Amino acid sequence: MSLVSKLPSVGVTIFTVMSKLANETGAINLSQGFPDFDCDPALVDLVAEKMRAAHNQYCPMPGQLALREALAMKIERLYGHRYDPVTEITVTSGATEALFCTITALVHPGDEVVVFEPAYDSYVPAIQLSGGRPVFVTLRHPDYRIDWDEVRRAISPKTKLLILNSPHNPTGTIFGPEDLRALKDVLTRTDAWVASDEVYEHIVFDGGRHESLARDPDLAARTIVISSFGKTYHTTGWKVGYTAAPAAVTKEIQGVHQWVTFTVNSAIQLAYADIVNDDPDCAALAGFYQAKRDLFLEMMRGSRFRPLPSAGTFFQLMEYGDITGEPDREFAIRMTKEHGVASIPLSPFLHTTTAGTVLRFCFAKKDATLRAAAERLCRI
Ligand code: PMP
Ligand code: GLN
Repeated sequence: MSLVSKLPSVGVTIFTVMSKLANETGAINLSQGFPDFDCDPALVDLVAEKMRAAHNQYCPMPGQLALREALAMKIERLYGHRYDPVTEITVTSGATEALFCTITALVHPGDEVVVFEPAYDSYVPAIQLSGGRPVFVTLRHPDYRIDWDEVRRAISPKTKLLILNSPHNPTGTIFGPEDLRALKDVLTRTDAWVASDEVYEHIVFDGGRHESLARDPDLAARTIVISSFGKTYHTTGWKVGYTAAPAAVTKEIQGVHQWVTFTVNSAIQLAYADIVNDDPDCAALAGFYQAKRDLFLEMMRGSRFRPLPSAGTFFQLMEYGDITGEPDREFAIRMTKEHGVASIPLSPFLHTTTAGTVLRFCFAKKDATLRAAAERLCRI
């Protein structure tokens, strides 16, 4: 039987590769982005309560209405745009499914999608499965800001979608208000949609503000805002996310979603609805992670790694050029095996291998884990 891969150049994700290597070698795992501490036990109790109350069957296809209402309230409160919970919000299996359904709903064969790289690894395969063509705009080391002139040059009459991500994985950069103005300007007289990946919306440091695309009415009219509960509540394994978008495009996204998963875990959605209503601002999260970033940076001061600014997310980029000129993937693997700390190389986030000598470290870890990792890294 012949088997022709639809994704011939896609192997196993770097997150799987590095976490597996960390487990096999017993290294401290600062690679894949997930906390090594547990979520709030009260949240687990709340899910159990919902399960005991018999919320164990399919819920409506777009998600539990209570959760969609809570999200509409939260987004309006934080970013000033009111989404209709019935026609404009869809609960998905993580942001990953939200991205996949959005891209599948919008991209036809031959369409172009502007992707900013380094780019989160799930965007390009989804574009390719729909027969679309990624058009790359490079965020350049060391500040990884968007060059809006380059974006203007990347847009063509075939551009169907731009995929943006702030706070940005892997670089930790965040949009400023000037980026929203520039985006609006670039999109004038185009017919392009925007998918805005905002999964780290509550993790912004040093008094900065998350610039959701929902803040601007003109942008909101052409944007699919995508977020996830995994990063906000330390529950990456529960895989619940959502889209908020105008009704016409939401209808198309739901058209795909109903064939991908149909619905997402009923009881967990109800628990999230309660905690979103209790604390829609999640204002404590940024300080929690900022303290971890600062601890890691403090501990790394004596090392030969050079930190790049991290304004958001739970990732810290580090330059290792003073240690070696090895390619990033090779060095990340050797460092895991020989020095016992796993990280993520940047090259898998790029379609060419011009990543330079930079590694990504996840600081969503217990303070003891960060201290132990930094001690090892300081010895390299
Ligand atoms: N987008 C970005 C930028 C991410 O870092 C991640 C993963 N953590 C996702 C999307 C996927 O989120 P989820 O785990 O909710 O599917
Ligand atoms: N988003 C996580 C990261 O960037 C990984 C998610 C995954 O393993 N697919 O590390």
